[in-house]
This record gives sequence, C-alpha cells and structure tokens, in this order.
Amino acid sequence: MKCVTNKRCYDTRELAEEALIEHRTRHYHNDNSGPINVYECRDCGSYHFTSQGEVSDLIKQNKSKISANREANYWERKLR
Ligand SMILES: [Zn+2]
Repeated sequence: MKCVTNKRCYDTRELAEEALIEHRTRHYHNDNSGPINVYECRDCGSYHFTSQGEVSDLIKQNKSKISANREANYWERKLR
C-alpha cells in the first residue's frame, strides 16, 4: 500500500512504534528532531512517523535503552 504522503506505512501503531524506536537507535537525532512520534493517517489508514508535535511517551520511556543500543551499534560498526 502506498500513501499520498509518500511516507512509509505501518499497519498498526505497535509496528510503527517499534520501527520508530529502531529508527532512533540506528540514526542519531537530538531529543526534539527527527521522527518523534507516530500517527494514524487520514489518507491511507496506516501509521506513519511524524516529526511534529509532542515527543512520544514511548521515546521518553525508552530513551536510555535507545542511547545504550545506539552506543552498542556505534562500537560494533567501528570495531568491525
Ligand atoms: Zn498515509
């Protein structure tokens, strides 16, 4: 399924949130930049990332986990 927004579609909120955490683990963003939340799209009914509005509680809750994983990824790449 493709959306007019050209954003990547996720079928459920859970999938989108999981991907959002994953994304923030892989790519470095400041606290208030990059995708910070997910939303249900009015056009396609799927979920997309958004960089607007409030930072998702999910990100706040997983903040330490995200930075720990990101650090691990960084060293993994560096030492390879
Ligand atoms: Zn959409």
